[in-house]
Amino acid sequence: MLSSGNLGFWWIHGLLGVAFIALIAHTPMSHLLLGPANSALASRRSGIQLRPIDFEAEPPEGEEPVFGAAKLADLSRKNLLDLSACLWCGRCHEACPAAQTGKALSPKKVMTTCADWLAQGRANDAGLVDAIGLEAAFNCTSCAACVEQCPVSNSPAEIVLEFRRHFVMDRSEMPDTMAAANANMEKRGHPFVGTSANSDDWRNGLDVPLYEPGETEYLLWLGCAVTYEERAQQIARAMVRILEAAQVSYGILEGPHCTGDPAKMMGNEMQFVDTAQGNIEEFKEMGVRKVITMCAHCFNSFDRYYPELGSNWETIPHSVLIDQLVRDGKIDPSHSAQKIAFHDPCYLARPRRAIGAVGQIVEMPRNRKDSFCCGGGGGNYWGGKGGTARIGDVRAQEAIETGADKIATSCPFCMLMLTAGVTRFTEERKVFDIAELVAEALPLSSPPLQHMP
Ligand code: SF4
Ligand code: SF4
Repeated sequence: MLSSGNLGFWWIHGLLGVAFIALIAHTPMSHLLLGPANSALASRRSGIQLRPIDFEAEPPEGEEPVFGAAKLADLSRKNLLDLSACLWCGRCHEACPAAQTGKALSPKKVMTTCADWLAQGRANDAGLVDAIGLEAAFNCTSCAACVEQCPVSNSPAEIVLEFRRHFVMDRSEMPDTMAAANANMEKRGHPFVGTSANSDDWRNGLDVPLYEPGETEYLLWLGCAVTYEERAQQIARAMVRILEAAQVSYGILEGPHCTGDPAKMMGNEMQFVDTAQGNIEEFKEMGVRKVITMCAHCFNSFDRYYPELGSNWETIPHSVLIDQLVRDGKIDPSHSAQKIAFHDPCYLARPRRAIGAVGQIVEMPRNRKDSFCCGGGGGNYWGGKGGTARIGDVRAQEAIETGADKIATSCPFCMLMLTAGVTRFTEERKVFDIAELVAEALPLSSPPLQHMP
């Protein structure tokens, strides 16, 4: 039996416990539940996972089709849960290359603005997209640093990019330079406005085999930057040298190709789906089962988004394949004392065996999954203006400050952005693709490139 004093304590204790549970939903303590719930519902795959859009789906009667988001009600349930789970801690802001270079975008500000509107019951107020603003929506480089750093597995970038999709597909609004690249995608199938290169220029003087259905093991996929950008064409020539040296069965497709990734990341999902479906059809007709990419964006598109549209091949980034060829002794590049700083592309934080095989790796302060973007992602290769500094310059300075002799990366857009950044500090050619460094270090006894007669 409890004495009356103890019984009183028992009731007070019990009531306090019930009050605490009732209060959880109405106080910041709700994060005790929302944070773990949000993490449990987050995508198992790291990075940004944009929602697919079914352009053939009929909208509910009396409603217009919605592409992207203008208001909270257009966001997914997971996006809305992100807003409730957000701790307003600002870790996303600290990691964001756009915010850290003084641009209009702050992922934390996007989250807090949306959360405020949610708290005010403005779920159907389409003024939200303007409160976020066009400039901020296009500042995102889709680097996923905010996703990586968020303690409750939020994805502020997915919300930002839904607003971007709305600007592009609903209002036909985007920054001028991106609009030109987009228009070029629609007219010429790639975003490199004004290039005079044709799709075969990169292999001038080389006898590169075409992909033979049923015969060839790997399709060597070029992608738009490697095809049309003169400096990036060197990556493909180096990769051909490596594949020949390792006696890998590979071939290329004739004619120009692009995954459509630049269109997708600039918010033009319709153009992306159109391009992707054409590629999928062609690959299926050719019986392609394994694809080597030389661009982090091509890899991300093929590996992350093409399966939703019916692709059925395996995609291997060239950096990974080169690593495997070194590991398996298929190529034996010579080692030197040169110091090499490696910049991890946002979509490809990778092992360093191949770099270690040709030189001494010097790590930048921000590396691997905590890498800092080159500034070219999310279509910002064609934009990226504003703020207090160019993102690529910040990253280039970080690389130079390591004291490395060379800076290596494994994505043509990273290479081009870092090259532009480095030229502000030195005239020396310092930035190379991993394939170029390995090809250069191959022994002369490796089978030479087959040159055209
Ligand atoms: S890091 Fe995550 S929890 Fe923190 S402010 Fe950004 S979105 Fe919110
Ligand atoms: S994806 Fe990168 S650029 Fe975009 S909001 Fe996140 S951290 Fe900023």
